[in-house]
Amino acid sequence: MQAVAHHVPETNSRALPARERQSDQALLDALPIAATVVGLKGEKLWVYAFNSRFAEAISGPGAAAPAKDAMDSHGEGPVGDFVRAFLADPAGAKSELALQDGEGIGSRHFTLKLAPLHAQEDGTPCCLLSLVDKTVEVQAERNLRAEMLRDSLTGLPNRLAFTETIEKFGEMPTRSVDHAVLVIDVLRFSRINESMGSLAGDELLITFARRLMSALRAGDTLARTGGNEFGILVALKRGVQDALAAAARIQELLSTPFKLSELEIKVDCAIGIALMNGEQDAEELFRNAQFAVKQAKQVGKPTVYEPGEAADARRRFSIETELRRAIDRDELELYYQPLINLRSGTVAGYEALARWTHAERGPISPGEFIPVAEESGLILDLGRWAMDRAAATMAEWDRAVGEKLPFYVAVNLSAIQIARDDVAGCVEDAMRAHRIPGNRLRLELTESAIVQDPSRATRVFEGLKALDTTLAMDDFGTGYSSLAYLQKLPIDVLKIDQSFVRDMLSDQDSVAIVRAILSLAEALGMSTTAEGIESVELATTLSALGCGSGQGYHFARPLPAEDALRYYRERSVAVDKRR
Ligand code: C2E
Ligand code: CA
Ligand code: CA
Repeated sequence: MQAVAHHVPETNSRALPARERQSDQALLDALPIAATVVGLKGEKLWVYAFNSRFAEAISGPGAAAPAKDAMDSHGEGPVGDFVRAFLADPAGAKSELALQDGEGIGSRHFTLKLAPLHAQEDGTPCCLLSLVDKTVEVQAERNLRAEMLRDSLTGLPNRLAFTETIEKFGEMPTRSVDHAVLVIDVLRFSRINESMGSLAGDELLITFARRLMSALRAGDTLARTGGNEFGILVALKRGVQDALAAAARIQELLSTPFKLSELEIKVDCAIGIALMNGEQDAEELFRNAQFAVKQAKQVGKPTVYEPGEAADARRRFSIETELRRAIDRDELELYYQPLINLRSGTVAGYEALARWTHAERGPISPGEFIPVAEESGLILDLGRWAMDRAAATMAEWDRAVGEKLPFYVAVNLSAIQIARDDVAGCVEDAMRAHRIPGNRLRLELTESAIVQDPSRATRVFEGLKALDTTLAMDDFGTGYSSLAYLQKLPIDVLKIDQSFVRDMLSDQDSVAIVRAILSLAEALGMSTTAEGIESVELATTLSALGCGSGQGYHFARPLPAEDALRYYRERSVAVDKRR
């Protein structure tokens, strides 16, 4: 305790009458707490007596006891002020003082308490100063607070701590640098948890957090703000570009798969960004970034929050209501995009893609309404409708041509349908209603349908195979490269995701991925399709690499049923001529 000095003339304590001193001493020794008698003589505070517990408290156990001494010679500092004020007015002044950090002894924390005492014989006003060691309490409280602010799994600050940090920066009167809040969502995390167990999920989060750390710059703060959600407060020097650059660094870091108990898992994330503009509070800023994440999920790239986007949330809501109505009133339509046999150039099949033209808003993209349908459960009705419509169209085409056409129609099945509907029953209904055999139908499923509930997926897939339909794994390469599932399930086709196809001509990694998927398919006895072929170069490259079929704007966009049939006829004629 800095307030007590040990170099004071002995004379002062000697000046006290012996009996008086002894009674002080007896009083102190009887006290179970660390205590001392302090008096104010002139300008100086003097220590008249102390008990052994006091000596231990300020010097540590076994240390030499302090001399009976003056308190710091000028009586300055918080302890001096505290005692002085009390001695001047014992009834009016504070009698308790918690020493602040650095004022305690070593790393211990004391609370000082004062009680009035009789004056010394020379009239010096005196009081009893006791020290209460609060170290344990203070530590416990600090630990608790630290716990409250820390995520125990990753050791990172949690959401509470994160918003506190944002607040601190927001309050700074002159901000030399601006800041942005990034919210990062680990996509499909609950499925990893469900399929691989929560321990694996935890491991993934820890590794994820470590990777995020390596994307930080000095002055950035990383926090785990939710189960599968992280936040970063980024200092901006060049404005929004810095935030987008941080997002790009993070995505780059995630391009390497994670290793989890023997499996390599590709983890994707969605990143939402909100810029600090000094007007919103920390909570609001954070929520804006969370809102931007939702949008990022839809558009598939980091998204900056723009004010007024709450209006979009309402739009989403009204989409749900209106989509319900559109399904009931048959206002949706299926378009058909050809899949071309890359060797022969003939039409191998068509993928049925839902289209919705809203009476007032015009066309609404499936990228927007399919997620709404999935969240609201409307996808079950939509899926049944699409299945039925696709089979019906095929029957209409057959009738128009007067023969059974030699291609298939592919219908997309959402993971929600696999999880909640009797899809095999629904496919069978459509086949019966329109007399279409299973071998003319292809079903496109995503890896997420498997990961959610592998044993259910196995049953559903087998039920679909029993109907003689073809099963294609859609968006392959973007989900979980779990070979175990692929081998077990009766999958016929791997459909290479368009993100790899698109980048093939510029990015060697994408070429490597496409090659790897093609050789994997070969090893597993599956055929391959590539989507998103936008140029003749891509078509020829993919064909050279051994990819069986492909679809994309280079061949045709999704077309209304009639146009699709016309496309088939024209293409057949053209191919025949070439032969
Ligand atoms: P998807 O199954 O991966 O469908 C392929 C998407 O790529 C389609 O987008 C298609 O129009 C687009 N596409 C095709 N060729 C190219 C190309 O060369 N370049 C580019 N940039 N894009 C190309 P669309 O029609 O917007 O559908 C988006 C997604 O919505 C589909 O992705 C599918 O997951 C979902 N979807 C569409 N219709 C249905 C449906 O009836 N049921 C279900 N469950 N999902 C559907
Ligand atoms: Ca598809
Ligand atoms: Ca796809």
